Amino acid sequence: MNPSEENLEYLRQRMVDEQLLRRDIRDKNVTSVFRKVPRHRFVDPAMRLEAYGDFPVSIGKGQTISQPYMVALMAQVLDVKKNDKVLEIGTGSGYETAILAELGGEIFSIERIEGLAKKAGKVLEEFGYKNIHIKTGDGTLGWQEHAPFDKIIVTASSQDAPQPLLDQLREGGKMVMPVGSRFTQRLLVLEKEKGRISERDVCGCVFVPLIGEFGWGENCAGKDS
Ligand code: SAH
Repeated sequence: MNPSEENLEYLRQRMVDEQLLRRDIRDKNVTSVFRKVPRHRFVDPAMRLEAYGDFPVSIGKGQTISQPYMVALMAQVLDVKKNDKVLEIGTGSGYETAILAELGGEIFSIERIEGLAKKAGKVLEEFGYKNIHIKTGDGTLGWQEHAPFDKIIVTASSQDAPQPLLDQLREGGKMVMPVGSRFTQRLLVLEKEKGRISERDVCGCVFVPLIGEFGWGENCAGKDS
């Protein structure tokens, strides 16, 4: 049976109350955007109920839409302001892209898998966002034409932060990214001040691999292997 819009709306409000507010999501801009953006529209129609669960959901091609709490946590630490230029690596379903676009600024998002980039682009267009630009490519190289960025968010993990992304971060800018081994990582906030990068560890996490020139190899081999 297809869930009704009322049912999905109820699940969305409950997701905010139980998964975000009961944990440490305190930014009102973030919680109000989560109450509004219909997360179920970013997954396969058969998975609409699962979209509001406290876990990641498959979006095909071996990729996932991140757990709601993780999307919220990254948005909260990134602290997106109205006029920020934001670079997102790993568009995936486009859900986090929509969250960032609602928080403000101009969003530049790169996805490695063309089918996912196209699908996400289509859904985001249906919502009428004018402040989102998506391209298919290797996000570990950044998006030089639009650099520098006030904020950078990477939604796939690598052994360390890709140098081109650090180079394209504005002075005073902030980047959030999962860094670690193939199967377990730490979510880091990297900030650039006077050309130097400082690092803060937010929590442990598990993300799909960032595959590209400055990430894992195609077969997920590390740089030394
Ligand atoms: N924020 C997304 C998460 C998607 S999972 C969501 O909530 O839906 C991470 C995504 O990163 C995957 O779609 C994967 O294909 C993509 N990815 C991996 N390596 C990449 C790279 N080098 N450049 C761009 N995208 C990449």
